[in-house]
Amino acid sequence: MASLTISAERGRVAETDFAPGPILLLGAPGVGKGTQAKELVKLWGIPQISTGDLLRANVAQGTPLGKAAKEIMARGELVPDSLVEEMAEQRLHEPDTEKGYILDGFPRTLGQAAWLDGKLAAESLPVVAVSIHVDYNQLLRRITGRQNCPVCQTIYNVFVNPPRREGLCDVEGAGLVQRADDTEEVFKERMRAYEALTAPVVEHYRSLGRFAEVDGDRPIAEIAASIVATVERLREGSS
Ligand code: AMP
Repeated sequence: MASLTISAERGRVAETDFAPGPILLLGAPGVGKGTQAKELVKLWGIPQISTGDLLRANVAQGTPLGKAAKEIMARGELVPDSLVEEMAEQRLHEPDTEKGYILDGFPRTLGQAAWLDGKLAAESLPVVAVSIHVDYNQLLRRITGRQNCPVCQTIYNVFVNPPRREGLCDVEGAGLVQRADDTEEVFKERMRAYEALTAPVVEHYRSLGRFAEVDGDRPIAEIAASIVATVERLREGSS
């Protein structure tokens, strides 16, 4: 707890002179990438770019991309690289990405990683990658217990991080919802896709350096403090 306060202070001071740059949060479904990305957003004021969230927004709006992605996502498979890259391309050009951004759930294949590396080659700050690790059984518990607030997007878990009032968001009071793909059956397919296609991406960034792995089976604030310290340390060697 104390270390997060210290890091949070450093983060706030850093807001004026510390550019976090592009940050990748890697890890299997349910490790807490979204939760941790939101902690970093609060600290550094840079956006979270979640390809999963962007795809779900497209599905909800019924765009052509959403229509192409809906069934694939429901099965727990990966949406084709070309579609996700086009979506990422647009998002990365928005002006709020200037001081950096947190990519959550992208890249998920070696093809997407090659595309991103090519795009980032011209940037002044190289990417830093943090992989969050949690055991399989713990992931299953997290996925099947996960509930989100449809208004403020706060993520809860009925087992490990429940709301104060069952089924209701602490902040908004809105009824919590479960993602359609947060079932045991779809989780197993998402894990298969992760092991086959995304685990090699983690190895790719490990081999490039500016990479660290953090233990995700700890309180949220403790993990956030580790990630902040890790990014600051990895950035020291960047410039
Ligand atoms: P997430 O919210 O990150 O767990 O993503 C939910 C689903 O969206 C995944 O199971 C995939 O079907 C799809 N998806 C999200 N990001 C990507 C990506 N980078 N590449 C391919 N499919 C993705």
